[in-house]
Amino acid sequence: MTDWDDAVAQMRVCRRCPLAGSRRHVVVYRGGSRPSVLFVGEAPGKSEDETGLPFVGRAGKILDRAIAELGLREEDWGVTNEFMCRPPGNVYDRHAASACRPWLDLKIRLLGPRLLVPLGAHPLRALLPGTGPILTVAGTLHASERGPVFPLLHPAATVRRIAYAERWNHDVAQLRELLPRFLRGEH
Ligand code: SF4
Repeated sequence: MTDWDDAVAQMRVCRRCPLAGSRRHVVVYRGGSRPSVLFVGEAPGKSEDETGLPFVGRAGKILDRAIAELGLREEDWGVTNEFMCRPPGNVYDRHAASACRPWLDLKIRLLGPRLLVPLGAHPLRALLPGTGPILTVAGTLHASERGPVFPLLHPAATVRRIAYAERWNHDVAQLRELLPRFLRGEH
């Protein structure tokens, strides 16, 4: 069993916070075993809780389209969330985010991505604490103790406002410009 397999086995039975009592699945990860780019969302929704896979609902389809536009190969990307059990009512749960933080750190360490892409305001604060609001920093590259970070809006925001959809398309295009150097390990 690899370190990753061992960690995933532990995550799947985690009961560190109360969300363990209402979840159907611990939603750990979807993607390659050594992704160059790791997308980090907030939390599982209904579809994710049912399937055990992150970003498989409506927002996931938007993300998958962007990944195709970026030209990433299957093994080059992965997606996870700040915390891995569905919060009732899909309300962001900062206690769960805090309890799940060691798991997020472990996933990042074991997967070893060259670029982290937080999706939305909450993952942005987790990966770039003390930074500006998501609408200010999305689409720009930042240094962090975990390595380079390129924030995007949460894909679900793009269905709420045309301006967010346009911003998403613009920022994904910016990321496409930057990606080759990360895929070559030249950052
Ligand atoms: S949200 Fe994270 S910390 Fe809480 S029970 Fe689920 S896996 Fe464990």
